[in-house]
Amino acid sequence: MNYHSTRGQVPPVSFSTAVEHGLAPDGGLYLPEALPNLRPYLNDWESLNYPELCEAFFAHFATDIEANELHAIVACSYDKFSDPAIAPVRALAPGRYVLELFHGPTLAFKDFALQLLGNFYAAQIARTGRPISVLGATSGDTGAAAIHGLIGKDGVKSFILYPDGRIAPLQERQMTCTEADNVFPLAIKGSFDDAQTAMKTVFEDREFATEVGLSAVNSINLARILAQCVYYIYAYFRLPAQEREAVTFVVPTGNFGNVLAGWLVQQMGIPLKGFRVATNQNDILHRLFESGTYSLESVAPSLAPSMDIQVASNFERFLYYAVGSDASKVREIMHTFKATGQYQFENFDRQSFSSSRTNDSEIESLIKSVYSDYNYVVDPHTACGFQPAVGDQNLEIILATAHPAKFPDTIIKAIGEEPIHPSLEVLKERVITKYFVDPTPEAIKAFMREHK
Ligand SMILES: *Cc1c(COP(=O)(O)O)cnc(C)c1O
Repeated sequence: MNYHSTRGQVPPVSFSTAVEHGLAPDGGLYLPEALPNLRPYLNDWESLNYPELCEAFFAHFATDIEANELHAIVACSYDKFSDPAIAPVRALAPGRYVLELFHGPTLAFKDFALQLLGNFYAAQIARTGRPISVLGATSGDTGAAAIHGLIGKDGVKSFILYPDGRIAPLQERQMTCTEADNVFPLAIKGSFDDAQTAMKTVFEDREFATEVGLSAVNSINLARILAQCVYYIYAYFRLPAQEREAVTFVVPTGNFGNVLAGWLVQQMGIPLKGFRVATNQNDILHRLFESGTYSLESVAPSLAPSMDIQVASNFERFLYYAVGSDASKVREIMHTFKATGQYQFENFDRQSFSSSRTNDSEIESLIKSVYSDYNYVVDPHTACGFQPAVGDQNLEIILATAHPAKFPDTIIKAIGEEPIHPSLEVLKERVITKYFVDPTPEAIKAFMREHK
């Protein structure tokens, strides 16, 4: 299986190369040249445990990696999860389920992809002998999950930019209290957008990229999307057999990575009914699915910060399929959008998607009502999934994207109790190690050269 760019202006590459590059050199995102039909495997896959299912799934995609190597990579990617089911499904009430994706080392669903990605990188470095410098920008969960996926891996250095003082204190501790010497949390004076803009400029410098072995771990990396496909299939099997094809997956959404993974699984022939894109007040995607207009607005910080995005970077992958796999059309749309901040689709086909929007005061009241209805505590991102849906989607599985203990202030305010998780308690005792850099491409490059 090879991988091509949504913008169609570079030759297809192998799985390992797509993973190593992150972003395609023409500015597009990698996608498989063809989606496999997984339906014939359903019977065989039903009884597999999580790592077994993950391995069986990736055997269709990581075709340039030897089977025994793939086995070794996957087998050690889920051993730091605290629940034996890895991704347990809980029934809160008849027809209402939660898929708990927060049992990994940083207590957010991003661990599913980044633990695995760290091991793909390590295997790649062992094979090629070329070290890798990972550069990312985070408003919280991604950075922590990336750092924990890469701790102690030979040949990998991770540099994670974040806006100083503007991420949750416990998220900062997850990044800065690792005591690992290949990890560099870079605090910048400025906003997340400043960090991301500077990072993008660094990636555009191809010479520098080659010099340090630059790679991206943000959600544009194809391996992350594929890793997230696995828990949709796993969850499908955990639902009662007579409900499996009638349950809507409700996905708290920011960059469209998580929900895209589910949609791809459906395109590969697993009979998932459909998806609800649950946004917070930064609702570019909700507006798109309601009106067919994709338009930029400024980002207002919310109680669900990992969904505070202005542009949903993974939307371009869905767009590629939505315009009939026409890369020139994708280029035209992305160009118009970049130039005008807006694109109006004629006949926007929502396909299997519905959407909802949840503002901050609703997040608080939803945390409260979920607690009183089900005696279950949800984090502010997951709360957006509990927004009552329009229409008759009465069977739902809501993806719980983070553990509530990561956001104690909001939870205490909503239900008057402090959520606790032992792994966070340990961090509170540790020393913080962080580095200050200016949010300019030059300063970031200089720091990386010095520490590569
Ligand atoms: C990253 C994140 C999201 C948004 O996921 P996308 O793939 O960007 O849509 C939602 N909830 C939590 C807790 C996250 O960390």
